[in-house]
Amino acid sequence: MRFIADRMLGKLCTWLRILGYDTVYAADLGTNSDENEDRVILSFAARESRILLTRDRVMTRLADREGIRYVLVRGDDVMEQLAEIIRYVPGVNLEPVPLRCSECNGELRKMVAGEEYVLRAKSYVPADRIGEMDFWICKTCGRVYWRGSHWRNMRMQLQRLKRP
Ligand SMILES: [Zn+2]
Repeated sequence: MRFIADRMLGKLCTWLRILGYDTVYAADLGTNSDENEDRVILSFAARESRILLTRDRVMTRLADREGIRYVLVRGDDVMEQLAEIIRYVPGVNLEPVPLRCSECNGELRKMVAGEEYVLRAKSYVPADRIGEMDFWICKTCGRVYWRGSHWRNMRMQLQRLKRP
């Protein structure tokens, strides 16, 4: 299950990546005009069989015509938006998994012994946890991830979504 999210849904895009889903953000497709962007999004979604996430009703009509699966997102809050996706796309995972970079959608890989110097070079990595916790690094942009307090907060927010 892969997604493409329009420009209005940047935060949702980040959350889906945290949940392990390959999610392309329309703003990263690098188009030069709005009209052109809609075309690019649709053909990209069709080519890669991605589910289109959009707030734009016109886009959903075009998607319908081209047989592209979509969710028309109405909620303003990202948790409401995730709840909508769960409703339309059954089986969505609700546990954070270290598979995708939330910044760039690149693939993550687990770091191994001997790479501590990479971690020490990043000012945002808690130095006292190196050697004690697992770390993952984005193969594309080099951002490092670990299961810290941020991760626990996200899990708590997601737990609420699991309740009917
Ligand atoms: Zn990255």
